[in-house]
Amino acid sequence: MEFYDVHTHQIFLEDSDDPYHSCIFDVYPLEFEVAKESYSRHAFSCGIHPWYSEESDTQLAYLSEIASNPRIIAIGETGIDRLKGPSFDLQIPVFKKHIEISEKLSKPVVVHCVKAWEELIRIKREVRPTQPWIIHGYRSKPELTERLVREGFLFSVGDNINVDSMQLIPLDSLFCETDESDMPIRQIYLQTALALNMNIEEFAERIAENVRRIFPLLQAPKPYYPDEEEVED
Ligand SMILES: [Zn+2]
Repeated sequence: MEFYDVHTHQIFLEDSDDPYHSCIFDVYPLEFEVAKESYSRHAFSCGIHPWYSEESDTQLAYLSEIASNPRIIAIGETGIDRLKGPSFDLQIPVFKKHIEISEKLSKPVVVHCVKAWEELIRIKREVRPTQPWIIHGYRSKPELTERLVREGFLFSVGDNINVDSMQLIPLDSLFCETDESDMPIRQIYLQTALALNMNIEEFAERIAENVRRIFPLLQAPKPYYPDEEEVED
């Protein structure tokens, strides 16, 4: 099995890194230069979190400069958050700037969205992006999931999932992530496979296919062969 963590903020030192998974590390534009030297095996997503969209001009300008680097394989996380951060008047233009970069460079967007689904759908309809938009940390209710699937979003799920929604997400639209969780990516795969009544190996292969399609530049990790006990956990 190959494990892919498509959204994480946790950077492990190469020595203590788990060789059986590949990550997309989320970094701020100004962190990228240092991070890319320190972590040779993984890839990056780069952007400005909506909580910090205020006074983000320097980061944004720098993002435009570095985003074409082949090690940056996604733009974000970016998006809109109703509960935290500045007003939408400030968040939305910054989000749109990320979208512009994503379209220009043909790189997918990692989306953070909290209680702003109508706005998110409206913006997607208005922009009609050619690039995939992956909603990260997805755990919302089935009714919303059905709508978002129809609108063509992709989904990345972490430690906290909505089991009823999982059945509604097409398998070719799904990824796994650790984000800031302590739960290891392998555990997140197991939990998600269980929610889907799937065998972990079959599930991991389907996710790997999605990664190869959407993030072809993400290096494959060392394949992992579990012992029987772990699979049944
Ligand atoms: Zn995150």
